[in-house]
Amino acid sequence: MEPIRETYILLPPGTDFLMYLVLVPFALVFVFGVVYRLRRLGVRSVGELLNSVFRGVGYMARYGLLQRKVVSEHLAGVMHLLIYTGIIALFIGTTLVFIDHDILRVLGLRLLRGDFYLGFEFVLDVMGVAFLLGLALLIYRRFIRHEPRLRNRLEYSMALAGLLFIGLSGYVLEAIRLTVEPRPWSGYSFVGKAVSTAFFVNLPTEPLTLLYRGIWWSHAVVAFAMVAVLPYSPLGHIFSTLLNIAVNAPRQLPLGKMKTPFRIDELDPSADIKLGFRSLAELGWMEKLGLDACTDCGRCEAACPAHAAGTPLSPRDIMQKLRRQLWRSDGLDEDVFASGLIDEEEVWACTTCSACIEACPVLIRPMDYILEMRRALTLEGKLDKRKTAMLTNLSRYGNPYGFDQSEKQKFFEELAEMGVQTLEEKPDAEYVYWIGCASIYDARGREIAKSVAKILLKAGVSFAVLGVEETCTGDPARRIGEEGRFQELALQNIETLKQKSVKKIIVNCPHCFNTLKKEYRDFGLELEVKHHSQV
Ligand code: SF4
Ligand code: SF4
Repeated sequence: MEPIRETYILLPPGTDFLMYLVLVPFALVFVFGVVYRLRRLGVRSVGELLNSVFRGVGYMARYGLLQRKVVSEHLAGVMHLLIYTGIIALFIGTTLVFIDHDILRVLGLRLLRGDFYLGFEFVLDVMGVAFLLGLALLIYRRFIRHEPRLRNRLEYSMALAGLLFIGLSGYVLEAIRLTVEPRPWSGYSFVGKAVSTAFFVNLPTEPLTLLYRGIWWSHAVVAFAMVAVLPYSPLGHIFSTLLNIAVNAPRQLPLGKMKTPFRIDELDPSADIKLGFRSLAELGWMEKLGLDACTDCGRCEAACPAHAAGTPLSPRDIMQKLRRQLWRSDGLDEDVFASGLIDEEEVWACTTCSACIEACPVLIRPMDYILEMRRALTLEGKLDKRKTAMLTNLSRYGNPYGFDQSEKQKFFEELAEMGVQTLEEKPDAEYVYWIGCASIYDARGREIAKSVAKILLKAGVSFAVLGVEETCTGDPARRIGEEGRFQELALQNIETLKQKSVKKIIVNCPHCFNTLKKEYRDFGLELEVKHHSQV
């Protein structure tokens, strides 16, 4: 007797037809949900979506399918991997059964037979165990270990209950089938066989068959329902995260770099400047997709120094609040500040460290949303006295602290006494040592700069300084959302550096490093920037 898949065994004739009939409304709910979701995001056409997805297939494979960042946290990573691979295996298994029974069998062919079928049964049992182990880990993390990062919402528990029911009932069905209709190859379905031996082996056939039918239908209906509500439930992240990775990863800026929304030297003076966003309607569909993909995992919150310091900011809360706003009927047009959804204090608390971006397993960039909201606030002049003073200082003195030229002069004289020359005195220097405002004006910072200079001199590095011509890179203005002020300073520095044909720069300040290396590029200046520890 050749092993072969016997689908709809123990069920009355016509069950397959009835099942497809029952499936129809669920499928319609699913399709409606997908269309509604894409429309809500503002995707204009399927072609546009597919084009964007196609560009990011490599990222999707690395970060979505292979879960490169998800597994970086061991327990959470293993848990997610087990559930995820289990779901994929069960999906592939169900698809193969459909092809075998509803297509090939009708054509007089069979796929699930012989050794392939035996392997299929064995692998599915293994993957089912992996799936249930993953769910057990999830229960452990949420309900036994009570990991503070994980939130318990009703919809999360319902999704978990649904998955658990599908996993367990699948084995019960297999066990009853093997009890009522044993086959010589039953051992390949080793879990079902074990459950059968433990619970059903001596029970009468008739009630078992009835029980089988009841569980079979509940299994099918729960599975259909879970697929139908995918676009509306937390499990929808299976698709939204994959889409987000494919669509947004290829266009992501290097870590630490902010988007350049306009060029001040190319602006039409009569044009209306729009910066950042105050309502979700102002976001493009790709940005909305980024919000939609947030899984509430809390990794960004755990990494956020502003949150750890007790400020009102949690990047996860920001993303989740905006995400929920996305799905509220009047949510798109509502002003996120005026409605009280986002507190300005949350937005100002961000240190722009990028840790949330680094931590996010599905390549969402919470900081970008925060900084865009900040830009909108700044454009409206919603700045407190300290920030306003800092911006005024940048314009008036070229540094954020408000020191005048004589302070800078004094410091460079101290450096000169150590033997540090200016670029004017040493035009053939290989590097310019860009000191940065904190190291020019702050007492402790000055000691750092002097120590760095001492090391460079001792090491025989060919370098010089700009001297009093060095002004702030503009970084504080950009981080505060004042793009115009940043660009004024950036363009001024770029002109100086170009005039002096500077190609290589040494810095000790991380902010200067980031701005000179990554942000000045948008204004036509490519520099080789090294931290002093790299020279
Ligand atoms: S960039 Fe802002 S929100 Fe993100 S981790 Fe740093 S402080 Fe927190
Ligand atoms: S933004 Fe990323 S890291 Fe933060 S909660 Fe959402 S998915 Fe998790």
